Amino acid sequence: MPELQLVPTPHTDAQAHATRLVARLRGHFDSGATKSLRWRFSQLDALEHLLMEREGDILEALQKDLGKPETEALLSEVRMIVGEVRLTRKKLRSWMKPERVRTPLVAMPGRSYIYREPLGLVLIIAPWNYPFQTAVLPLVGALSAGNCAVLKPSEVAPHTSAVIAKWIPKYLDAEAVQVVEGGVAETTALLRQKWDHIFYTGNGTVGRIVMEAASKHLTPVTLELGGKSPTIVDETAHLDSAAKRIVYGKFFNAGQTCVAPDYVLVDERVHDALLNRMVSAVREFYGDDPKQSPDFARIIHDRHHARLARLLDGADVATGGETDASERYIAPTILKNVKEDDEVMKEEIFGPILPVISVPSVRAAIAFINRQPKPLALYCFSTNREAQEAVIEGTSAGGTTINHVWLHVGVPTLPFGGVGESGMGAYHGRHSFETFSHQRGVLKKSTLKDPPLMFPPYAPWKQRWLKRIL
Ligand code: NAD
Repeated sequence: MPELQLVPTPHTDAQAHATRLVARLRGHFDSGATKSLRWRFSQLDALEHLLMEREGDILEALQKDLGKPETEALLSEVRMIVGEVRLTRKKLRSWMKPERVRTPLVAMPGRSYIYREPLGLVLIIAPWNYPFQTAVLPLVGALSAGNCAVLKPSEVAPHTSAVIAKWIPKYLDAEAVQVVEGGVAETTALLRQKWDHIFYTGNGTVGRIVMEAASKHLTPVTLELGGKSPTIVDETAHLDSAAKRIVYGKFFNAGQTCVAPDYVLVDERVHDALLNRMVSAVREFYGDDPKQSPDFARIIHDRHHARLARLLDGADVATGGETDASERYIAPTILKNVKEDDEVMKEEIFGPILPVISVPSVRAAIAFINRQPKPLALYCFSTNREAQEAVIEGTSAGGTTINHVWLHVGVPTLPFGGVGESGMGAYHGRHSFETFSHQRGVLKKSTLKDPPLMFPPYAPWKQRWLKRIL
């Protein structure tokens, strides 16, 4: 883990702007305007219009920032949010309804409810790899829960940031939702403000900065971080489909996916068979020269390109390995004979390089994984139910897909989030609504005369009765 960066003093302009913005949004939230079901529906409708009408702009920006293939952008950025908006609109009325829960004898006669109330002002800070989705998907939860929000898209994906800044205030209630573009100075200025929730997606180093800033105001945080997500392949796995699915999940967005399979632990008995199939799958998907493939993205930044190229120095390449800094291209690469202490195994790879490590058994794979920080995702390819359960029970991870990669992220009924070093809190579907709501416990008592048992003067006979009831 790199050293924490010192938080610089933000530019005075950025600080003044952040202070004014928060005061304005706070005033709007306090007016109560964002609390009604009607307002929430209006914002969800507006967001869906934005997504459908500006889809072209969004796809173009993603192409410019990441060379993101249109199908990948549609699936993982735009249409994923459309699905979330539609689900939220369908369910919101029932999610907002006070939930009646059991009342114990001691509080009788009375009725107990959980009310969901908006938190207030929320700050959403997004990274560059899914620069549209990571900014706008949490917004669905924030708006559906009746909050005001500020989005801080990543400056590392400037075209997408500009599209977000251009369209969000035009479609949504600009008194309630604002976008602040910029980098460290602007984010630091925002982090100095008092928020009611901060939702941060990105790396753990900045996650720590966010949490520290939030602690000054006792602001709760959701941290959607990353890490090295392992993939286990055992000797019973269906190797044809495992190979294709791993290759697909790894090289989608050129490996710049928080839940990409970071490395593969394969049973030594099927190591060669899996490796050969994965090499063939790369050729099948991206052709003999993946550089020419319109379906393979580019690395976001020169700095990341250089970091990834360094990981290839001296590596044992099964396929790929070519780089071209002028295009920020790294070929889809599979590495063999990788050791646990190799450089490529030290930090999240976050690029199109897939190390494959041979292990003697599922138990050895589990032990390997448990020597690392808890990952955001973990995959297991096996047709053996017992092995599947042993992997789930023997490890901890933010989420898991069995016999595929990262599809659990697209299931809105499942919470999506990390554990330990891969983050805290979760969202998607109802979990987003809950993340941006406060669950307020409400007991409604009747005005019938109280039994005298718990009131002074206390007496032994009262205590005897209380012991029976409690
Ligand atoms: P990034 O560099 O774009 O940073 C994320 C945000 O933090 C940006 O908005 C940036 O302006 C802000 N920031 C950067 N430095 C800061 C500082 N010193 N102070 C305050 N704010 C600062 O993106 P990144 O962190 O490189 O993103 C990649 C990481 O995000 C990977 O580790 C990946 O696994 C993780 N990720 C996680 C998820 C998830 O859902 N769990 C999704 C996408 C990415």
